[in-house]
Amino acid sequence: MHIVGLFPEEIENWLKERQIASFRAEQIFSWLHRHAIDDFSKMTNLPREVITQLQDEFGSVWPLELVDCRVSKDGTEKYLFSLGDGTSIESVLIPDEPRQTLCISTQVGCAMGCSFCATGRSGYTRNLTAAEIVAQVLWVESRLKTLGKSISNIVYMGMGEPLANYEAVMGSLQLLNHPKGLNLGARRLTISTCGLVPQIRALAEEEIQVNLAISLHAVDDAKRSEVMPVNRRYPISELMAACDEYTEKTGRRISYEYALIRGFNDHQGEAQALRDLLRGRLCHVNLIPINPVGEVERPSPRSVAEFAKVLEAGQIPVSIRKERGTDIEAACGQLRQTHLQE
Ligand code: SF4
Repeated sequence: MHIVGLFPEEIENWLKERQIASFRAEQIFSWLHRHAIDDFSKMTNLPREVITQLQDEFGSVWPLELVDCRVSKDGTEKYLFSLGDGTSIESVLIPDEPRQTLCISTQVGCAMGCSFCATGRSGYTRNLTAAEIVAQVLWVESRLKTLGKSISNIVYMGMGEPLANYEAVMGSLQLLNHPKGLNLGARRLTISTCGLVPQIRALAEEEIQVNLAISLHAVDDAKRSEVMPVNRRYPISELMAACDEYTEKTGRRISYEYALIRGFNDHQGEAQALRDLLRGRLCHVNLIPINPVGEVERPSPRSVAEFAKVLEAGQIPVSIRKERGTDIEAACGQLRQTHLQE
């Protein structure tokens, strides 16, 4: 386990095993998580021997390194990080003043196989550790600090299915939410899932109540199964039953993500079916005109607006995600794919 994946009590144990005073644990945790320092030598209130010990055992502050960074005309920044085993992951910073939203990865690749997704197409390699998940945030936070800014929101919507890496994801949420660290409120943390029903139920029981986003993308089982194989295991009726339980237990509104793909799911009939499916449910719909991948095409702005109008008329709260970073291959998994091909 890398040190950025440890809670203060675990750092305390690490210190005890090395006969170092346990009060240093909180100092170390605070340097790592609150101050997001990029080098152990910046822990100025620690004795030299402790810094040397940290350097010797962990090497670097974060278990990842930047390999590539692309900055879009609209300010979106995409990072490609390499991990200790030579694999790589992506994170995307979406500035929308005063918000700084960071989209992070939870797995190297993904086993869910959604057909419209570059990550899904590249297959699954492994789960990330809590340290690797948190390190993406700390790396970007460290960079933002030099500009006098700070991350305001985290979305678990990068590479991988967060709920398929449940334990590490929960650990990372608790670390990001820790009052002695970044202290990001649970309402600023969003988990997005393609619809793993047992894990949605488990999430409803957790103490930390983060936002939940469901990638829906189609309203009938045949169509959804076509683009999202997970639907064969957990069809829409089961998914919606789990979502209803989630809202009942938590009182939280669920966000439904609907990626609009030209000629596939962007017709008026689909908008009406979506409206009917969500009517009476505590929800919000986020329409995402898709970033083109392969033969998948983005719908026209007019058909997106008309789709939204149908939902609005049915009293379903809806927003249209702004087009961001299309010039830097901002769709999940695209930058990594380009590097792998190179
Ligand atoms: S959309 Fe998400 S769940 Fe589906 S393959 Fe891509 S990363 Fe995995």
